[in-house]
Amino acid sequence: MSGFLQIALDTPLRRVFDYRCPEGIDPSRLKPGTRVRVPFGKRRLVGVLLRHTATSEVPVDKLKAALEILDEEPLFDALSFELLCWSADYYRHPIGEVFAAALPVSLRAGSPLHEQIECWQLTPLGELEWPALPARSSRLRALAAAVARGANASELSEISPTWRAGLRDLEVRGWLKRELVAIQSTSVKIDPIPGHDLSEQQRVAVEAVLACCADTPVFRTFLLHGVTGSGKTEVYLRVIEKVIARGRQALVLVPEIALTPQLIARFEQRFRTPIAALHSQLNDSERLAAWRAARSGSARVVIGTRSAIFAPLPELGILIVDEEHDSSYKQQEGFRYSARDLAIVRAQRQGVPVVLGSATPSLESLARAEKQPGSLLSLPTRAGNAQPPSIRVVDLRRCASTEGIATPTIQAIQHHLESNGQVLLYLNRRGFAPVLFCPSCGWSATCRRCDARMTIHARDRKLICHHCGQEESIPERCASCDAPVKAVGQGTERIEDTIAHLFPGVAAARIDRDSIRRKGELESTLVRIHDGSVRILIGTQMLTKGHHFPNVTLVVVLDADQGLFGTDFRAAERLAQNIVQVAGRAGRAERSGEVMIQTEFPEHPLLMSLLQGGYSGFAAKALQERELAHWPPFARLALVRAEAAAMAHAMNFLDRARECATGHGAQVRILGPVTAPMARRAGRYRAQLLLHAPSHAPLQKLMPAWLAQLEALPEAKKVRWTLDIDPLELF
Ligand code: ADP
Ligand code: ZN
Ligand code: ZN
Repeated sequence: MSGFLQIALDTPLRRVFDYRCPEGIDPSRLKPGTRVRVPFGKRRLVGVLLRHTATSEVPVDKLKAALEILDEEPLFDALSFELLCWSADYYRHPIGEVFAAALPVSLRAGSPLHEQIECWQLTPLGELEWPALPARSSRLRALAAAVARGANASELSEISPTWRAGLRDLEVRGWLKRELVAIQSTSVKIDPIPGHDLSEQQRVAVEAVLACCADTPVFRTFLLHGVTGSGKTEVYLRVIEKVIARGRQALVLVPEIALTPQLIARFEQRFRTPIAALHSQLNDSERLAAWRAARSGSARVVIGTRSAIFAPLPELGILIVDEEHDSSYKQQEGFRYSARDLAIVRAQRQGVPVVLGSATPSLESLARAEKQPGSLLSLPTRAGNAQPPSIRVVDLRRCASTEGIATPTIQAIQHHLESNGQVLLYLNRRGFAPVLFCPSCGWSATCRRCDARMTIHARDRKLICHHCGQEESIPERCASCDAPVKAVGQGTERIEDTIAHLFPGVAAARIDRDSIRRKGELESTLVRIHDGSVRILIGTQMLTKGHHFPNVTLVVVLDADQGLFGTDFRAAERLAQNIVQVAGRAGRAERSGEVMIQTEFPEHPLLMSLLQGGYSGFAAKALQERELAHWPPFARLALVRAEAAAMAHAMNFLDRARECATGHGAQVRILGPVTAPMARRAGRYRAQLLLHAPSHAPLQKLMPAWLAQLEALPEAKKVRWTLDIDPLELF
């Protein structure tokens, strides 16, 4: 027997580990992508076989043998496997963590792939005794009753979020038996019902994509730029229908599945089959079931959030990235990949088309589409008879206002309510007010652990830091001079109060992260909005995502100025996207809508280009600016962030990092190190170093040797540092 196994292990080390093959197993039988259990120090870990190697840097007598081969066949098809390896290399992230990110938790822990689910039954003792549980043990009673009925995991989780602990409790009493039952995956028959007659523009888009989906599909990136309500989803459905009819699978990525139940429902209705969903709100067994269905091919359509980009899909025929501009496609910690960018890589490697859809495409995607004639598909008008909304600016300098709502805005709300419309007020700031301020001495409440102000949360009677979560009670008097303090500025809670005061008796609902904390709360609010019992909606960015509010006739952007002067080079793009997305919620049905944008800077060039030229006008101007300034998409970036107990440690490390990088290539410019825009966060001091290059290649060339140097620096011991390739945010 010769050769060793090179294994990826879930550790933060940028390296792989060599093992001997277990006794009696022919290594040549093992294919890359197979899980292997290995000894690691005192622990046993589950890793993934990357490749066979003839020699090892570790002396043979020191090499340990792997303990167990966990899979008969590799978990990943060859192309999914290669995509993971490629991603680890591109993002310079430890490959073991990359594989871990791609696997459902139980597979990561070594559970068998094959089709088993956990089932529960009451024992005869349990059946006899549970009815005698006292009424105060209501959770256990409900769980026992549900198990007696044969409830499955998702039904049990509805009863109590701590249902697993409850079941253990029942088990300890000898009332419960669990067993693993094998399930067979069956191929689902899909029998779509016909959709709308396509508009001319939809037809052109569908045909362009389908031309790449013939018997031998070809890679191509399409950008479907369609205003909100223009029928993009209808285009996806049509394309997918044809692709699955040819025996292939479709992968649809969405930014946040919790917010788009409508999309799944629409797919299920149309294809008359359950859709495999992969997202973070699933419990592990549901996630595993969906993952398996994707892998076995029994799921023809998979809809998922970011990490679904790594799902094994042996017969993938089309990728769709809906709302491709959404920043949640980029993972912001750990393995910082962009699922949108990887969708393009995956499509290319698989040789199939990918469709990026948005009403407000990212500047990256617009620039790419410009370079490839024919790849921009536009749906400039709304589907059916819906009219685009009219947009006007409310100059806050010239109008009286009540707690952040200008008088013309109040009049417009009144008018729309009287004519039976619904009104949506958008403010991307949760809480009651962003500042607690002392008018006599100028003191304001700041976070002890961050360079940031505390936000007033009136409902919870707390000051909360939005950066580290620190909470304090709200003082009535100034900490510095003891004068009475006051709340300055508006958050969604305060707008809710003001609306209640201005429009007494009119039902309003607030949708933000605080108001939907409890499970089911968002859904029940959405129902009240759809049945018309709520007349005024107040919400954050959450409202801009995917919801259809057909009876909303007025949308108000309460504060456009937050984004106009942002420090990040993407601030303007974000603001334009938010305004256009939230405006798109208005007047979707037969009734035309109106949008009002409140600002103190009505002549701001960004707002002007947006009002005059729409999103495309804005984007053209913003792209010119990016090109002049050599920012992405006309350059590529990599950001090293460092944080430490003292700023000097972070800066010393980055100074050394900078020295190491100089001389690695003239094409890479090194900017910094500088302190982060928020220099102290959660008690840690933060600084960063930016690498800037005309393309990715020089960065990629520099990285391996440079990162090895950084890891070995003595200064590295005092900091926590991370690398972010193609960072979305520069802080
Ligand atoms: P988007 O995804 O661009 O927001 P949708 O696909 O959700 O747009 O379409 C918006 C609305 O228009 C939906 O109610 C949809 O059923 C309807 N619709 C889409 N295409 C057509 C069409 N060709 N004719 C009539 N109605 C359409
Ligand atoms: Zn004071
Ligand atoms: Zn804080």
